[in-house]
Amino acid sequence: MNAINQFLLRNNLRIVNNPCVSPDFCLDWPALSTKLLHAAASLHFYLKSTFETKAGTWTLFEDKATGDCGWSVISTTQNDPSSLLQEGKIVQPKRAIFPATFANLLVLKNLIQEHNPASTVFPTAGQKLGQSTLGIGARFTALHWPAVDWAMSALEIGMTANQNSIPRELVYDVNAMLDGKLDSVPFPFIGTNVPEGHQGQSVEGMSHGCVLAKLKTGFHRRGIAWSFNADHQPIGGKFDVREDQLVAGCVLASYITFDLSPEFAQTNVPDDAVGWVKANVPAELVTRVKARVALIGLTVNESDLAKLLAYVWPGVKKMKVRDEKYAAARAKLFTTKVGREYLRELSIDELPGLTTPETTAAMLSLCEALGMKVNFVAPAFGFQKNMPYPDNAALKTLIEKQWNVCKQFGSSIGFHSGSGKSGENYQVMGQVTSSHLEIKTSGRYTYEMGKALFASKNAADQALWKDWYQFTVELALKGVFSTDATEQKMARIFVTDALSKAGKPTDVFASEATVRAALGSLTISPEHMFWFEYNFLFVLAGGGKAEKSALGDHSPAGYKQRERFYSISDEGRLNFSKNIASYIIFLAQNTALASKERCAAATKLLASYETLDAMQGDISK
Ligand SMILES: [Zn+2]
Repeated sequence: MNAINQFLLRNNLRIVNNPCVSPDFCLDWPALSTKLLHAAASLHFYLKSTFETKAGTWTLFEDKATGDCGWSVISTTQNDPSSLLQEGKIVQPKRAIFPATFANLLVLKNLIQEHNPASTVFPTAGQKLGQSTLGIGARFTALHWPAVDWAMSALEIGMTANQNSIPRELVYDVNAMLDGKLDSVPFPFIGTNVPEGHQGQSVEGMSHGCVLAKLKTGFHRRGIAWSFNADHQPIGGKFDVREDQLVAGCVLASYITFDLSPEFAQTNVPDDAVGWVKANVPAELVTRVKARVALIGLTVNESDLAKLLAYVWPGVKKMKVRDEKYAAARAKLFTTKVGREYLRELSIDELPGLTTPETTAAMLSLCEALGMKVNFVAPAFGFQKNMPYPDNAALKTLIEKQWNVCKQFGSSIGFHSGSGKSGENYQVMGQVTSSHLEIKTSGRYTYEMGKALFASKNAADQALWKDWYQFTVELALKGVFSTDATEQKMARIFVTDALSKAGKPTDVFASEATVRAALGSLTISPEHMFWFEYNFLFVLAGGGKAEKSALGDHSPAGYKQRERFYSISDEGRLNFSKNIASYIIFLAQNTALASKERCAAATKLLASYETLDAMQGDISK
């Protein structure tokens, strides 16, 4: 048994309430297979999950007590199909079972796509996913996907239905995690570094879970293509040393976001940029970029272009190397064209300042010349996370300038930090680009979980909510008096915002007691800015402690904390699902990804559900 499954079993961290940590969706195959052979009635067979391959018909089954899953195949071609995947056991003539391991998932992908290239069981780059989509960050994995799948089904549009940043939010390598070798990510607003993978799930676990989620509800029967975005894959800088592991981890992603900022951050433009470019960038490339930029109607003088190229070329060169690795990993594992394809996004919004059209044009023409089709490019528009853009007319002008460049490369615009904009902001984005866009959202769904628990009448949900809220109060209190200037400034902004919105005095920073009293006078609510800003840190905080040392805890204590979320009531789950679906409908309507009529019908249907089963039952239609 591999190390991660041993670790999880030893600490009684089971998939049923701690999903997507292991790459496998079966931790204990001896136990699951024994149950199937001797007590099959205690297992759940997902009737809607069935799909065909050349060898026969497959069904997903689960031990709902543990969350361990397996595959059952009834073959039409073989008497003993037990060698179709690894660790197979024959049950009766023509029927075999297999554990839902990651290795088996990779083989199944080939069997499915060889048999039916149009299959939508796995994420792909198909249909319109490379032009128009919504990026839905899946912070709560198994709690989250059915709501996204419901929305895709009701709206009849494909989306980036699985998305998270790696290695920032997801554990990029479970063995590195077990060895205590995860790096940390600076979070200036709390004045500390938090271990990467701060949501606890692994990239392979997420890859696995999002496929199984669709099979359980029969989403794949709808024929709607969906994608899995390995978001903000860091290129260059300190990430060079582990790029092979980053590539290996996200092999099931059908969409890669290249974030060149680590390399840019350490690139110094030499004084003699023109000379540097002559010596380092192939002359033919420079000529192509110049011609392409001119064709678009932009003018860049020689010296400015040289400065720009000297700045971006080291990063772009590494992007090309990485891209070849993603392609090679897919070519090695997958047998079909559809199984190997992936979309690309170029993220340049991390660069300082607003992105100029010239920068976008230069970057896109470099990628084009190097044979990397960029489906989405994310310039910086000066968005603040979770804040509407204040001026729609100015936003329109900014987007028009970028769109004028992007459309000439056949690229759509990726809007990062896309959560929490106004309906009008989204309308502008949709109108200017004719819906050739992606809105990326992620933090929004942690907020929706808070709202769901807050509204739940279930006692355990309420207890979790109150602990969660108190955790953020304590972090805010510590931040307000921190000696770290940024941490203190941000904490005071969050506290002041909450107090002023509640119509309370904001001159409260005299002592810890006065701040505590002021925060204590607020009505508990998920609308307070300090809760919003600190909330995601609670999920993997060991013991739920509001201490910096407890954050991003990949020990059993952190995962026991995470388990609380996956143990919420059906009412909490239904609230959460409805909140997610309703936000997706809002995005789809305002960006014009779906018609007003369809969005209205979906909203009405959503409001009618009184149970999670009813909602999930409609996904397959
Ligand atoms: Zn970005």
